[in-house]
Amino acid sequence: MEFCPNCGSMLMPEKGKIKCSCGYTKSLSKNDLIEQYKFKGEKNKDIEIIVTDNLDKALPTTRITCYKCGGTKGYWWSVQTRSADESTTNFIRCAKCGNTWRS
Ligand SMILES: [Zn+2]
Ligand SMILES: [Zn+2]
Repeated sequence: MEFCPNCGSMLMPEKGKIKCSCGYTKSLSKNDLIEQYKFKGEKNKDIEIIVTDNLDKALPTTRITCYKCGGTKGYWWSVQTRSADESTTNFIRCAKCGNTWRS
């Protein structure tokens, strides 16, 4: 995990970059992504799903209230987790700021 040199926030992976809510971004090569996040992804399924899910595909939209930017349009998708209970987890991504969370 890396932290933002500008504001110290935790950096989140997004589309081959890591980015901070303050606007700082850092490009990652595919190998960097795998090196830095694969191990973590195995321990934390949420992170892995966000990194590997194809966020460019068309996703259904839903009405949301983003807790970061107050945006009202969001995309959602569901993921079959590989945990023992095999439950489905729904994720929501804010269309305005890209904030992603579990619904
Ligand atoms: Zn920052
Ligand atoms: Zn937002």
